[in-house]
Amino acid sequence: MSDTMTPEQRHRCMSHIRSKATKPELKVRRWLWSHGYRYRLNVKSVPGKPDIVMRPYRTAIFVNGCFWHGHGVRMRECVNVLMRECIEDSTCCKIPLTNRGFWVDKIRRNQERDTRNCQLLMENGWRVIVIWECELKASAIEQTMRRVELQLNENLLSLYRHKPQPYPLDEEQASSLAAEEIC
Ligand SMILES: [Zn+2]
Repeated sequence: MSDTMTPEQRHRCMSHIRSKATKPELKVRRWLWSHGYRYRLNVKSVPGKPDIVMRPYRTAIFVNGCFWHGHGVRMRECVNVLMRECIEDSTCCKIPLTNRGFWVDKIRRNQERDTRNCQLLMENGWRVIVIWECELKASAIEQTMRRVELQLNENLLSLYRHKPQPYPLDEEQASSLAAEEIC
């Protein structure tokens, strides 16, 4: 991403991106909808206001832009180092050299917020799925969404998973169980 914007333009651009559904998110929604899944969007009562909420699956989905959320970047400890040197770029997330400190700080704070939200959700019994923008390229989306689908089904099953409870058996049942064990 080139960085030739004035601070004011940048601010407008960023608030615009934040307030609207992003294109990657739309891809996910379209896929889910066309495969029969239903969902709610930006539910305020759910911690972290996830992009997509699927209550019956107790699942929150975040669709993350690789740049804004620093996909694959490595953060180093920032003590006594300038902010712009705290990060190692990844193939998905190349941070401009101009204003680098600003971007690093921004991405770092986004990541910290993501981690907090995820923890909060899990503490409240939610399961979290993160989908990255780069996983939604035409060549990858089907595989990505099949993985998401599998995860959704696992999440649903886990809601109904319970330990078998011992229950009293009459004599006939008890002997048939013993026979099962021998076979
Ligand atoms: Zn990525």
